[in-house]
Amino acid sequence: MTYRATTYRAAVVRSAHGPVAIEDVPLRDPVGDEVAIDVTACGLCHSDVHFMHGTSGTDFPYVVGHEVAGRVSAVGPNATGARVGDSVVVAPMVPCGRCKHCTGGRPAACAARLLRRPAIPLADGTPGNPVLGVGGLAERVLVPARNVVAIDPGVPPEIAALLGCGVPSGYGAAVNTAEVGPADDVAVIGCGAVGVAAIAGAAAAGAARIIAVDVNAAKLAVAREFGATDTVDASTQDAVDAVRGLTGGAGADVVLDAVGGPATFGVANGMRAVGSRLVVVGAPKVGDTVDLPLRGLFLTGGSIRVSIWGDCVAARDLPLLAGRYLDGSLPLDKYLTGTFSLASAAQGYEQLLAGQVLRSVVLM
Ligand SMILES: [Zn+2]
Ligand SMILES: [Zn+2]
Repeated sequence: MTYRATTYRAAVVRSAHGPVAIEDVPLRDPVGDEVAIDVTACGLCHSDVHFMHGTSGTDFPYVVGHEVAGRVSAVGPNATGARVGDSVVVAPMVPCGRCKHCTGGRPAACAARLLRRPAIPLADGTPGNPVLGVGGLAERVLVPARNVVAIDPGVPPEIAALLGCGVPSGYGAAVNTAEVGPADDVAVIGCGAVGVAAIAGAAAAGAARIIAVDVNAAKLAVAREFGATDTVDASTQDAVDAVRGLTGGAGADVVLDAVGGPATFGVANGMRAVGSRLVVVGAPKVGDTVDLPLRGLFLTGGSIRVSIWGDCVAARDLPLLAGRYLDGSLPLDKYLTGTFSLASAAQGYEQLLAGQVLRSVVLM
């Protein structure tokens, strides 16, 4: 199968806060270990917005989108493990399998996890930088074979796409990074897509109490459907006092900050129990800093951890999450707020920024 002399449509942002333009991009054949994917669905994630606004980098133009499901349409000569026709999810992070961390059984510590892709030549010759190495809000995407994970074709595309970023990032933050256990009281700050997935992960891990914190009552209601036992409306309550009140004054054993940034970090630090784990899940903006009361940090003990893509191991965790959707224990249908066409993706991002949605997906 050859794609020469043809194009595909992709969402491109050429300047900070610039429009999301749907451009015709030249298509090439997969080379080396690449596979070509016919994208069936791509989720709209806040990380894209950071790039679109220039707060995660300024290497414009960007080809946005990184939460991708699709079908393998062609494979490069050295691609192994993926077959034409496979239903797949693109994993933006895959351990290299060769470094000292990978061979030592700590794949989440692999420094080479993040997918790095060459720029995508746009129609006018400008190199387009794929967001998180994927650039998958497009009809087609080319990625290395090791970055695709085959999943049960019974998972519909709009659900499969969710498994590319938001769901593993949150679920894994609770299960893999925080190592939530049955004795833990867990607080989750921010009940957007990632926070709600973290709540689902904490519930699956058998957490004693799961306290959802948000300023949006509708999001708190969804949080309950995914396993939150208590909710704190931070628009009317002091979140630190409320969490301490719900935990007999002790604070939470695990605090997951799914928002990211100085304000919520301070709140998260204020509500943690002695010996607890504070997990930074939401991505801070370039330039964010925090002042830490070092004496209090020392006396509280415990640890501050960072969770990137939920410290997931794609080949292990994505089929697991797909299975939990199919057996009904992870109700991702409730997670899906709406679907858009590629042409109306900009409208989807606007709704995301307005805080109106948990997760919207573009169907190709
Ligand atoms: Zn490695
Ligand atoms: Zn994302």
